[in-house]
Amino acid sequence: MIKQIEMLVKIQEKDQALDQLKGQILAGPERIKESQEEIERVEQDLESDKNRIQECRKVQREYESAVEDCAERIRKSKARLLTIKNNKEYQAVLKEIEGTEGANAEKEDEILACMEELESLKQAFQDKQNSLLAVKARFEQEAKAIQAEVRQAQDAFSEQEKQRGNMAKTIDAKILARYELLKTGGGGLAVALVENATCSGCHMSIPPQMYNELQRRDSLRFCPNCERIIYWKNRDVAEEKHVSE
Ligand SMILES: [Zn+2]
Repeated sequence: MIKQIEMLVKIQEKDQALDQLKGQILAGPERIKESQEEIERVEQDLESDKNRIQECRKVQREYESAVEDCAERIRKSKARLLTIKNNKEYQAVLKEIEGTEGANAEKEDEILACMEELESLKQAFQDKQNSLLAVKARFEQEAKAIQAEVRQAQDAFSEQEKQRGNMAKTIDAKILARYELLKTGGGGLAVALVENATCSGCHMSIPPQMYNELQRRDSLRFCPNCERIIYWKNRDVAEEKHVSE
């Protein structure tokens, strides 16, 4: 029976290692996904910056074409001036030209403002694009490292699962079934060490009679409180064994 209990403890250690590996395997893709989402957010941000730049360019073009229209009107008006004989009419056309020129100067200011805004938008866009490239390069490396970690964890998992299978074969089927049931119900801990007459699973005291029996290590015993399989370890022997290993 002592061999069976020792093996159960080893199986439990193996199961805990397997759970940890499983956690690593599952966390890998999650970590990659988070970084990908971060990149997507920056890309969306860049896309909206690009739209703003296009919008700004469009406004600039509109002003430019309005300026050209005005220049054309001014040219025509100036040509008309040469044919006008009437002084009053001449003054009127001259005034009109001045007015158009004034409006045009305002539009040219707007064009300058547009160009300035465009310049700063383009600079900001370029900066973001550069940092995105850096983030992407870092992500590629991280993703590779994570994938390598996951593959390693998967290999370790298969290897240890195989070992666990062989270990389980040495355990009586009924005891193993009991272990599995306790593991599910006991938050992963099915076999609990009893030290100083206290169950390490639930931290409750074991009755003295049972504690004495437990130390004989001749049969499977259960904690009267949490029902976990309990065992007792002869510290001196355990330490000797540890040293010789
Ligand atoms: Zn207990």
